[in-house]
Amino acid sequence: MPFQSLGLAPQILSAIQDAGYTEPTPIQAAAIPAVLTGSDVIGIAQTGTGKTAAFTLPILTKLTEKPLQPGQRSHTRVLVIAPTRELVAQIEENVLAYAKHLPLKIAKVYGGVGEKPQKDALRAGSDIVIACPGRLLDLMGQRCADFSKLEYLVLDEADRMLDMGFLPDIRRVVQQLPRKRQTLLFSATLSKEIESLTHEFQHSPKIVQIGKRSNPAETVTQHIYELPKHLKLSLLSHLLKDDALQMVLVFSRTKHGADKIARKLEQTGVRCATLHANRSQNQRLKALDDFKAGRVRVLVATDIAARGIDVDGISHVINFDFPHVVEDYVHRIGRTGRAQAIGDAISFVSSDEMDDLRRLERFIGRGITRKRAENFDYKASPQSLDQEPDRPERRHQQQRRPQNQQQRHPGQRRHGDRPKSSQGPNQGGQSQARSGGGHSQSRSGGGGQPQGRSGGEQPKAAPAKRKSFWGRLTGR
Ligand code: AMP
Repeated sequence: MPFQSLGLAPQILSAIQDAGYTEPTPIQAAAIPAVLTGSDVIGIAQTGTGKTAAFTLPILTKLTEKPLQPGQRSHTRVLVIAPTRELVAQIEENVLAYAKHLPLKIAKVYGGVGEKPQKDALRAGSDIVIACPGRLLDLMGQRCADFSKLEYLVLDEADRMLDMGFLPDIRRVVQQLPRKRQTLLFSATLSKEIESLTHEFQHSPKIVQIGKRSNPAETVTQHIYELPKHLKLSLLSHLLKDDALQMVLVFSRTKHGADKIARKLEQTGVRCATLHANRSQNQRLKALDDFKAGRVRVLVATDIAARGIDVDGISHVINFDFPHVVEDYVHRIGRTGRAQAIGDAISFVSSDEMDDLRRLERFIGRGITRKRAENFDYKASPQSLDQEPDRPERRHQQQRRPQNQQQRHPGQRRHGDRPKSSQGPNQGGQSQARSGGGHSQSRSGGGGQPQGRSGGEQPKAAPAKRKSFWGRLTGR
């Protein structure tokens, strides 16, 4: 089915062509016509299925059908709420691309950075606001936003927002929106909680559901290298001699560990960036940009910082530290093999991590293939690469026990795992979809992390009872 048959505006079709999309993805083919009819829509789709375009393209089309009249003050017509600032930044990136031929102003709002550019963007009456709930609520409380003429509300990754404890904030935001609006809700699953959310926020919604995205745990090639802990850096460096490892996401359990891995790899000539909560917002955005653009080959990340990473083409995910929590494993390996691409997940497992590995294997009901690296000296004594002593943070982390005891839920941060705020130029705010057209150009950039109120909100602990990520993926 071509995009042309979906009823999208010509400017949007032209932007889609520029983006190189040849045909709609299944969620787009299902959701776009439903949104264009004006119904509320529940879209059941995961990140990586093209869901951002599924809601953005028809909304943009509808905006063009009812343009502002000459002399009419610009005001916010669309509000997109998403759980993390990474996701907000990614949605904005997509919206900017799809709206490139439209004279729209777009603002993004999230915590962890200065408020002023975001306040200015809201006060300027951005057509589209993309926001994390906590900071949005703060700025609404300061009367910076006027949503009195809002027409479209999108709740993206609603299940994750519930997991992260954002429901009360979302409720308070939605209470202040016009009742007459079109509300689109996207979620990876249609759980009971999501259903009750749709009853609360939507009116006779249409459900569009595509087949579950293939379960990464089944489609991604997975291997385990068992080895002594002190050889992990050497093995990583050894494996990276293979050019097939083109775009590699390495997971470290700790921020210090991530820095150490990157430092050591840089010493061996491998270009690296790090993504963790101690990096400023601008540093994190730059790291992601450099990784996406291929300027660095390896991105070393912690679990929290990597949530919501939406980067196509990651060839390998390497679990430098094996995750304590099954969900983290699935999230991690799901970063590769996106959109039917081939992906490899490699895990380094030392003796103290064997319990975690066995727990995962029991959980997925099968063993993961063990591999031995060729021409690698498994008997080597600690080499200079691996010798740097661990700092207290790392020792502390290693003592943490997993599942049932100290398990973190997606989005729940540890004390001290909070990003520093950045006062640089990229602090959310407004950007311009169209180049030219009399409007000033993008005034700011931005990016994300689990979003924060007043510069770094702590998302609330997830409710004790919730279905596992694995369960949601597999329907078990
Ligand atoms: P999303 O699920 O919105 O995060 O999108 C995942 C990726 O798919 C993004 O990199 C999009 O640019 C890309 N994408 C979205 N729609 C299409 C399409 N129709 N054809 C090819 N790629 C697409």
